[in-house]
Amino acid sequence: MKVIDHINKAKSTLFSFEILPPLKGKRIESIYESIDPLLDFSPNFINVTYHREEYVYKKREGGYLEKVSIRKRPGTVGICAAIINKYKIDAVPHLICGGFTQEETENALVDLQYLGIDNVLALRGDPVKTEATFTPKENGHAYAVDLVKQIVEMNKGSYMDNEIQAAPSEFCIGVAGYPEKHFEAPNFNTDLKYLKAKIDAGADYIVTQLFYDNEKFFQFRDACKAAGITVPIIPGLKPISQAKQVTVLPKIFNIDIPEALSDALIKAKTENEAKEIGIQWGIQQSKELIKNGVPCLHFYTMGKSESVRRIVKEVF
Ligand code: FAD
Repeated sequence: MKVIDHINKAKSTLFSFEILPPLKGKRIESIYESIDPLLDFSPNFINVTYHREEYVYKKREGGYLEKVSIRKRPGTVGICAAIINKYKIDAVPHLICGGFTQEETENALVDLQYLGIDNVLALRGDPVKTEATFTPKENGHAYAVDLVKQIVEMNKGSYMDNEIQAAPSEFCIGVAGYPEKHFEAPNFNTDLKYLKAKIDAGADYIVTQLFYDNEKFFQFRDACKAAGITVPIIPGLKPISQAKQVTVLPKIFNIDIPEALSDALIKAKTENEAKEIGIQWGIQQSKELIKNGVPCLHFYTMGKSESVRRIVKEVF
């Protein structure tokens, strides 16, 4: 079932979460171990992230350095298929522009169709670590909006090869939104304008970047409404589990940690205490978001489900 249908049919706030593929070489069981503890709370859908190649330098004979491309976490589509098959829960693969030509994108979407996967989260992807700015592959998409447009064309039965008689796909399309603005955007309003372009292109709903200050989410939601964005906006939540995240998360995700939360984490004497602070913050955040009518709570588990389990046990 499509995410948008889950939302439209729901009588109360839904629960979903996101996992990342295991490191190459690990078995699928490691994924099941992170999903199983959350099954009691009947997740409506599970997202699986996409991780493109990274470049590393390997020392070769004679002291030369060779630039080598490696993908540490392949398997997004296979994991989605395994989730649907094992749990009968809808899986949402993330699909990025980076590293894909338009034809490769189309082929990836065809694979999803064959597997009966009709949800996709359409993203641009970050710049690879060795590049300062995002560079699309030749004949690839520069922005997520272009990926959304390609999927919408497929949904109309229009594929890249105009010669073929193609059946329309039926993808439900999610896109990313940033309550505290995307790190590259010159300002909040410009970022919002580009978010609106993704919705106008045909995206069905928005999932937000993680945040710890609900006020920022509510302001973002109001700004979206004022800009004419009417699709459901799903808040993304990640429980803090380590004291050091107080400085790491702002750097990675371009977000603020509210003073009350950072003060508490800085004072924490043990990692267990820091984890407990993160759980209690997540519970309060979730309760307030539900009270304010969000369609779904979407948790970033990063493969660790214990804190998320504690939170959802309290709020659902
Ligand atoms: P876009 O919407 O294309 O925006 C990127 C930047 O370009 C923004 O600053 C925007 O303001 C600007 N922009 C947009 N359109 C235009 C335009 N037409 N002209 C000029 N500027 C424009 N990354 C992964 O690699 N794998 C994942 O699985 C993954 N999952 C994610 C899930 C969620 C919910 C979120 C919030 C992010 C995720 N990311 C993932 C990270 C994401 O790929 C990065 O944040 C990326 O830098 C931006 O992606 P986007 O889809 O928001 O890009």
